[in-house]
Amino acid sequence: MLSKALPCIIAASTPVIGRKKIQLAISKKTRTVVTRDIQEPRILAGGHVRGGIKGAVKHALEIGAGPMQIFIGSPQTWIAPEPGATDISDFKKAVIEHQLGPVFVHGCYLVNLAASSIDNLKKSIENLYLGLRYADAIGAAGLIFHPGSAGKGDESEAIEKVVKSLEIVLHEYSGNCRLLLEVCAGQGGTIGNRFDQLGRILNAMGNDKRLGICWDTCHLYSAGYDIATEDGLERTMDEFHRTVGFEWLLAIHANDSKTPLGSRKDRHENIGQGHIGEAAFARMLCTPSLRSLPWILEVPGYENKGPDRKSIELLHRLSRQ
Ligand SMILES: [Zn+2]
Repeated sequence: MLSKALPCIIAASTPVIGRKKIQLAISKKTRTVVTRDIQEPRILAGGHVRGGIKGAVKHALEIGAGPMQIFIGSPQTWIAPEPGATDISDFKKAVIEHQLGPVFVHGCYLVNLAASSIDNLKKSIENLYLGLRYADAIGAAGLIFHPGSAGKGDESEAIEKVVKSLEIVLHEYSGNCRLLLEVCAGQGGTIGNRFDQLGRILNAMGNDKRLGICWDTCHLYSAGYDIATEDGLERTMDEFHRTVGFEWLLAIHANDSKTPLGSRKDRHENIGQGHIGEAAFARMLCTPSLRSLPWILEVPGYENKGPDRKSIELLHRLSRQ
């Protein structure tokens, strides 16, 4: 079971990130409180950036992103471009030079590893296979993708199909980039809107360390996980701990939600302007097992141009509360 003391509640002897003065103990001799200044680590806050590997670093620097997520082609098409050797080395050099990262690639939206049409299933497997190799070649930590949708079909059959497809994608793959299954909002029979489904997939894959999980706060909320309240966050974390395990959670898409709890809709909103709210993000950002992860915004932004400097600064501010 997960500790009851989740967000920001710390034992006197446990230094926790996010506080400047930490009470370590009460001195027996002097009866005074012994404190220690700890350096407050900045969170890893970034966002989805434009321009693929050619434009990503410039955009990340403009908006002050550390971790970043890119598309490698148009996410609405099956075209899977191949990166040129020079582009790869320029990108990797720039990421190191500017101390950016970790880098994530977001998969194509058409991928459906539970597709009922054989043609779609083949295209999905091939696209994910090529995308993973691309992501690994550019030094990405993960390729984040939506597992698929069962439509009106049987859920267990769909999960089996996802597992078989993943086995093909990972056959003979030995790269460092991991395939991260993203939690979905639950629209249209999507697989991955409940933690137990993700847990079943990981189990059936023999807990393969080439896989991982990405949370999306908007999707969680739309799927019915009430991360907006303290109790709801605790229940959510407890369920994830029991059915999946935090060792699998490698990234968080940080988005507020335009639609209410359990709406099963996928409508991202700027942090604090949706149903989840700033206080809930502050709470999540100072929950130790979430705080240390890369937080990647996929929000509309204040000028409707996607994640911007102001959105990233807001995450940093909320992480210090
Ligand atoms: Zn997302």
